[in-house]
Amino acid sequence: MAGKLLIIGFGPGSFEHITKRAREALQDSEVIIGYNTYVDLIRGLLTDQEIVRTGMTEEVSRAQEAVRQAEAGKKVAVISSGDAGVYGMAGLVYEVLMEKGWRRDGGVEVEIIPGISAINSSASLLGAPIMHDACTISLSDHLTPWELIAKRVDAAGQADFVIALYNPRSGRRTRQIVETQRILLKYRSPDTPVGIVKSAYRERQHVVLTNLRDMLDHDIGMLTTVVIGNSSTIVYDGLMITPRGYQRKYTLGADVQPLRPHQRLQHEAEPWALRQWDAEAYGDSDWEEPDDADETRGEAIAVSGERAAAVRGGAIAVSGERAAAETRGGAIATPLLLALEALQMAERGRGRSDGLGADLTAGLFRRQSIFELAVSPGVADKKFTAKQMITLADVVGEKGSMEYTPHHQLILRIQTEQPEEITARLRSDGFLLAPIGDVVQIKACDFCNGEKNEAIPYAEALQQKLGGISAPKELRIGLNGCGMACYGAVQEDIGIVYRKQKFDLFLGGKTVGRNAHPAQPVAEGIEPEQLVETIERIVQRFIAEGHPNERFHKFFKRVKEIEGYRHQEMPAFTIENAVCGD
Ligand code: SAH
Repeated sequence: MAGKLLIIGFGPGSFEHITKRAREALQDSEVIIGYNTYVDLIRGLLTDQEIVRTGMTEEVSRAQEAVRQAEAGKKVAVISSGDAGVYGMAGLVYEVLMEKGWRRDGGVEVEIIPGISAINSSASLLGAPIMHDACTISLSDHLTPWELIAKRVDAAGQADFVIALYNPRSGRRTRQIVETQRILLKYRSPDTPVGIVKSAYRERQHVVLTNLRDMLDHDIGMLTTVVIGNSSTIVYDGLMITPRGYQRKYTLGADVQPLRPHQRLQHEAEPWALRQWDAEAYGDSDWEEPDDADETRGEAIAVSGERAAAVRGGAIAVSGERAAAETRGGAIATPLLLALEALQMAERGRGRSDGLGADLTAGLFRRQSIFELAVSPGVADKKFTAKQMITLADVVGEKGSMEYTPHHQLILRIQTEQPEEITARLRSDGFLLAPIGDVVQIKACDFCNGEKNEAIPYAEALQQKLGGISAPKELRIGLNGCGMACYGAVQEDIGIVYRKQKFDLFLGGKTVGRNAHPAQPVAEGIEPEQLVETIERIVQRFIAEGHPNERFHKFFKRVKEIEGYRHQEMPAFTIENAVCGD
């Protein structure tokens, strides 16, 4: 009789969570080989099988014994808790077989029977913490160098994976979990939810919900799986939940209507998604454009091949959802819609049908949105008061963020359902608020602390008329109050310099890239009463005729003339631009 190796994952430990195939395989086997504790866990399912028990550290001899017995013609079950392919016996058995020159064809038959791994059983007891991209990391440095484990923890922390830690701690290995917490705190808030599950679906099951700061205050041992949330994981009523989507952002004055579920798959609603590749999309990206550098473009297209493939992969996943949806009467059924439908059915079953549906959906999306806006002390004012700083700290709170930009602004990101309360407070403290994104931004100097103040009213008038309005691409207008132009007005898309009671005008600076260049001087001595209107007309033309995502310097080059000011070809640069980060 031909022998066979059955590598069985029997799940977390309770009989209800063993698969049918795993039970059958156990019953079909003549020999069961496993670690003592595991044999005890499944003993109730065995009949007259021979049992080979071994200690925990004898994995290799377990695998060797299994192969030996199978080759001698026996049906041998090698058991692992959870899934045998997850830090289990499956790989080890194959290693022993490979060592012996085993081949699939003609060699002893091997069947791997999947089981519910600890990441899944623990997650089910915690709520729904995995949901999004997740990884498992074993903290056992018995077979893996600690340096490599630490590197993986670091990378997973940085990449915002939900992390399930296996083998987190033993009597002998106690420092690993402490180090892991330290590394993760570099990337995640101390409030990040953490679930600690001991002996899932076993007799002494114990579930604790805590956070990254306090996790070490709880009992963590060899029978424990620790699940660390990502940056969007929340705790609700004792459950740990990672919402599927990332948070949507909205800015000052933008339409903050919550999305209907079917709108979520549209690109406008998910601007972070990688677009299907085409030549135009390059200009859409946040990367620096390759400009005239053909070589760069070639290289970029080579990269794009991979990206396009990745997108296609993604698109297939989406279309799977869509396909499921289309069978449901044309509406696109996202998992969220299906969840709402299930909830409604369950509520109806309990004789309740009120208060669900559209309202619930709207609320869900509001809660997942982040309000972002730029603040500064004023157009000319560069000084924050202490009171303003306190207000900022207060409205941002522990969970929001405040980012200092190179453009005289702080960007605030706040999860809120009441943006108006925040803006009212900031305005009453004298802040100048601005939307972020592709808008017009006025960047003035400090007018030598207000001493050279003749041009300030013009900066303010420009701010009032043009500040924050939408443009095809972000458009920065620099205004400096004297010929020193020390705040770099001439480096901007549009530069204005006040000199001898009149204004000089500069157009089309290329503000970023290795081939950045200042704006071209196009006029000297514009009369003050004409300034604001002239600038308004220039901006309006850009808004009307600029292509989406076209930077102002490119627009100027393309249209050749604005308000009678002619674009002059610059001497050709041989320097190549690099994509962002290169
Ligand atoms: N093959 C197993 C993992 C073996 S490594 C699986 O797929 O689940 C052993 C580690 O798994 C333990 O240290 C613990 O972190 C985790 N683990 C296994 N069973 C568990 C259970 N019932 N409850 C919680 N964690 C468990």
